[in-house]
Amino acid sequence: MCASTLLDNVQTFFNEAAGKLNLSDDVKRVLMEPDRTVIVNIPMRVGGKLRMIQAYRVQHSNVRGPYKGGIRYHPDVDLDEVSALAGLMTWKCSLLNIPYGGAKGGVSIDPAELDGKETEALTREYVRRFMPVLGPWVDVPAPDVNTTEQMMAWIVDEASTIVGYQMRPIVTGKPVLAGGSLGRRESTGYGVAMVTLTALEKMGIDPKTARIAIQGFGKVGSWAARRLFDAGCKVVAVSDISGGLYHEDGLNIEELQRYTDTSKNHLIEGYSVPGIRSISNDELLTVDADVLIPAAMENQITEDVARRMRVKLMVEAANGPTVAAADTILAQRGILCVPDILANAGGVTVSYFEWVQNLQGLSWSFDEVIAKLDRMMVDCLDEVWALSVAENVTLRTAAFMLSIKRVVDTMALTLDMS
Ligand code: NAD
Repeated sequence: MCASTLLDNVQTFFNEAAGKLNLSDDVKRVLMEPDRTVIVNIPMRVGGKLRMIQAYRVQHSNVRGPYKGGIRYHPDVDLDEVSALAGLMTWKCSLLNIPYGGAKGGVSIDPAELDGKETEALTREYVRRFMPVLGPWVDVPAPDVNTTEQMMAWIVDEASTIVGYQMRPIVTGKPVLAGGSLGRRESTGYGVAMVTLTALEKMGIDPKTARIAIQGFGKVGSWAARRLFDAGCKVVAVSDISGGLYHEDGLNIEELQRYTDTSKNHLIEGYSVPGIRSISNDELLTVDADVLIPAAMENQITEDVARRMRVKLMVEAANGPTVAAADTILAQRGILCVPDILANAGGVTVSYFEWVQNLQGLSWSFDEVIAKLDRMMVDCLDEVWALSVAENVTLRTAAFMLSIKRVVDTMALTLDMS
């Protein structure tokens, strides 16, 4: 059981950076509290049984643009988690200098309990309930854990029916046929991989010799793995909720992706080639490698795990994978950590590209999208790296300092922040 919650951890990281920026307690309070929290109870039949399902949308800040953030379907979703994730979106968008604020949505449900029709009904109901606080210039959702391109298509359809005209820019992460951007599907994972390759270069490690372990083989983990595999890295271990796989010589990620395209619930379970062995989640997190990429859920890197980790670099593809006390241990042990608000920002960056294309009626090529994404990710890592060296702080504190300062400076244009 983890002592600190995701919200505690985000607050600790925020306070560390706010302290370095000498922000007053009043300013900190203004920055921490969300603008608006909406909670609804959705009565629905699931598998024939009448249930009351809790759904959330937390809008943290729109100082720098419309609220922006994914929707998560997971049994552990609660108000604290959604609030923490909404705050992280504000800091992420500000860090990448994207004209969005931060928000997050969630539904407290195990999606495995729902059949296709129930999933569609719940998603459409989410839109009907939250429509008063959503919109292309108000709040723009996207996929997150257990939510898909298909659900985004239902969201557009339902919203368009409500307003009476086609409303594609209300959500990003859509199928390309429904106004999605080429490259959005790969974007978060590709961004994680780009940041990993750039950090390895800065550390003097040849990517072709780098051994990489990835927790989570979903939308983010699989595309991060694929790009690193294509770049010649050895992805020696991956895992998902069904367990972990290890191969000393590196897994063939292209083949594994083909396997999970059609496997039951898209899980890696049952994949087998000569030389492969099953490992536990704990073994994956503490495997002897160069890089660990947590790409599953929050609070995976506990103090205990941080003490036993055997990598030189951790790149946080998931949101909030590291508890605050573990972060201190990683810094003491000299394990470099690229924080979530930078590492996984590729998703919201291409979401922003999707929104821009929708609003302008344009369609950019895959190569154009990925080239723009890579430039933004590398520039941001360079900026964070330089500040971290100049201020002698971790990459996380440097990232939070840059993003918080940008929000404060924007607020100060219209509000006395002294
Ligand atoms: P997903 O639902 O597509 O995949 C999640 C993966 O994690 C699955 O493979 C699942 O089996 C695995 N998993 C869950 N619990 C696990 C556990 N205890 N041990 C090992 N594996 C486990 O979700 P996703 O979109 O890939 O999101 C993953 C993380 O990335 C989340 O923290 C999410 O908030 C973050 N993120 C996602 C995006 C995006 O564009 N989808 C953008 C930024 C951040």
